[in-house]
Formats: sequence, structure tokens, C-alpha cells
Amino acid sequence: PVTIQQEFRNYVAQTSPAPYGLVVEKAEGPHLFGSFSGVGESRAFFDFTSGIGVNSLGARNHKATFALVEQALDYGHTTVYGEHVQKAQVEYAKALVEKWGEGGQVFFQNSGSEANDLALKMVRKITGKKNVLALTKAFHGRGYGPMQLTWNSLYREGFGVDDSCTRWIDPFEPLFTQIEELESDFLENLGGVFVELVQGEGGCRALPQEFVDELFNWCHKNNIMTVVDEVQTGFGRTGKFFAQDTYGVRASITTIGKAGGGGLPFGAVISSRRNFEKLQTPALSHLTTFGGNPIVCAAGLEILKQVTPKLLKNVEECSRFMTAQYRIWAEKYPNVVEGYNGRGLMLALRLKSKEAAWELFETAREENLILAIKLNNPTVVRTTIPLNTPLDDLKSAFKSLEAAIAVVEKELS
Ligand code: PLP
Repeated sequence: PVTIQQEFRNYVAQTSPAPYGLVVEKAEGPHLFGSFSGVGESRAFFDFTSGIGVNSLGARNHKATFALVEQALDYGHTTVYGEHVQKAQVEYAKALVEKWGEGGQVFFQNSGSEANDLALKMVRKITGKKNVLALTKAFHGRGYGPMQLTWNSLYREGFGVDDSCTRWIDPFEPLFTQIEELESDFLENLGGVFVELVQGEGGCRALPQEFVDELFNWCHKNNIMTVVDEVQTGFGRTGKFFAQDTYGVRASITTIGKAGGGGLPFGAVISSRRNFEKLQTPALSHLTTFGGNPIVCAAGLEILKQVTPKLLKNVEECSRFMTAQYRIWAEKYPNVVEGYNGRGLMLALRLKSKEAAWELFETAREENLILAIKLNNPTVVRTTIPLNTPLDDLKSAFKSLEAAIAVVEKELS
């Protein structure tokens, strides 16, 4: 008989030659239940990736699930963005603006990539300038706009992306030396700078505070717009609601996504009303069919409401435990572990080599752990657990993770 895995490969378009292939049966909190055989030997896997950042309060978050079902029973889609008044959408926008700051508004999109695409459109439309700066190891999504900002040329090659308007600067090198090296033509036509304060696909690299302060001050002085991509860092991931809160900065434009849809497709741009008003000339300069879908907004609002001081305390406690372990492991397993990157629960385990990372990724599977390799940093594995993971569950997952590391240490020594 044809297996579900064969049908998956036959009918679901693949862009990876080796998909992970876990046949999922159920999900609960930080756990996925399923098997690689697909024939009923279901095991519980601890998902260290939180569904690549989406399930920030665990899979099938109960409050978000009830809210989305209730909303779906009342009404789902009614018309394109911004025409009908939908309570869930209004309430969610208001709650996001309360987190972001006075004078803000929200434009709802359907993904992180779309949110950054709109941010790029806004920078160019508002400033009348086409050039943008992004950071080395940056990742902002796969549409043509975000691809112009994506640092790794591998993901741009062959698509005819016009990246002539982008320059990349290294956040771990002095800012002003790099600015001095940019062509004066480029600087004259520079509209905005895109940053992830803790770079997701770059390997959970937290930008140095000094670099961020200097960059924001320089942008402010020179009327250059700042865009902070909080698609991965938002909703409490780095210890406060926005990573910007931990750095003490506010960008002209903030983009969010992933966790903010309560498991459903989501993205949004937050900026000032004045900035959004520029999209009214000509009218409807931006629009989307599905953005702001009431079912997504109802679920997202329930996620936002759960980002409480108590949750953030759990982020701090889990983070303290994880980073202490990572330091111990760097001593104990010198052939495998080098250290860690990140802030809050936006953490990655930094390994000695690409080989060590792949071996650990594979071995962890045997220990019922799901890890992931980062797109722009092959020597780290993602350990971005749900923010509400109970410390005891984390400790037990860490026992398995240490067992996997010990196996790889043996193999590589
Ligand atoms: N921005 C960042 C920082 C991301 O990490 C991602 C996805 O991983 C995106 C944007 C793109 O989001 P999406 O996959 O929802 O388009």
C-alpha cells in the first residue's frame, strides 16, 4: 500500500530534497505526537523550535483555540481588508498599539514576508528614496521585497532579484567605518534601515547595544527610517513584549508575524497613523484580501493577552536555566558545544562545527527531540522553546538533549 509519506512526496510540492518527515498525529504544549514510520508507533517529541517560532505558547494553545472556534462560529471572512468593522480585528489592533505606543496603527497582513514587503513599500513611498541598508546574516522573508534585504545570496540567486539598492553592514563591526565606506550616491538616496535586534535565521545573534544605539541615533539625525523586524522576537520571546523594549529603542516601523496569529497565518506592520496615511495617496495604495481575518485576530489577541509579567518571569527563569547548562556543556563536551547565542528564550546552542550541528540535529531525533538548523548559520541549532514551558518539562527535555550531545561528543572525539 502507498504510505502517507509517499503521498506527501508525490503531491505536496517540496523545496527540500530531505524533508524532516515526521507524521504528526497530535500536538499539545511543547510536545508533538507522531512517528517517522507513519504506522502508529506514536511518540512524544519535545519541540525545541516551537513550530519555528509560531507556537510561542505551545501548540494548540487552548485560549487561542477556543477564541478562534468561537469567532468562526459567528463569522469568518467577510470582505477585503479595511472595509468592514470587525470587533476581533479592532480589539487586536488596539491591544497591539497599547504595547507599541501612542499614535500607532496596525496594518494586518498574512505572513512575516508580507509584513516586511509592506514595510519596504512604506519606506520608499514615505521618503521617496529607494536605497536600504540591512545587516549581514539578515533574513526577512521570501517575497521579492524581503529577498532584496536577505543577506545570504544563495536565497536570491536565480530569481532575478534587484538587490542593487541594498547594502549590508556587519553589526559586530564599528558602524561609522562601514558608513564611511558606502558610496555618497547610495547614502543620498538612503530611505531606511532594516534590523532584527536578535537575528533569527542568523543564529539568534543579539546585536550589541552600542551598535543599535549608534545606528538609531544616526538614522534619527539623518531622517532615515528605522524598521525593526520582530517577526521572531515579538510577543515576549526575548524577555519583553518587543525586543525593542529590551534595547530601549522604537523604530519608525515594526513588523510582526509568527506567534501573533495563534497558530494561523499572520503578519502585521505597526507604525504611526501619519505614515499609514501616505498609503491613501492614491487611495488603496496597499491592500490585501485576507489580512486582518477575524478568526486569526481573535486567536492572536488571546496570545497577546497571555504575555503577562508572570509569563515573562518564566521566560527569565527558563532562560537562566538553559544558558547555565549551555555554559556547563561547553566545558564538558568540548568537541561539540562552543556556547550559546541569544537573549530570553530566543536562544541557539552554538556548536563547534557544521558537522557537530548536523550530528546533533539527527541524534536528537532518536532522543525524541526536535531541533532545527538555522538558514544563515549552520553551526547553531535552534532552541526556541515555548515561553510557557514549565521548568520541570524543560529539565527533562534537557536530560535528553544532554544524552544526545554525549553521543555526538563520543562520535567526534
Ligand atoms: N522575518 C523574520 C525575522 C523571520 O524569521 C521570518 C521567517 O522565519 C520572516 C520574516 C518571514 O516570515 P514568513 O515565513 O511568515 O513569511
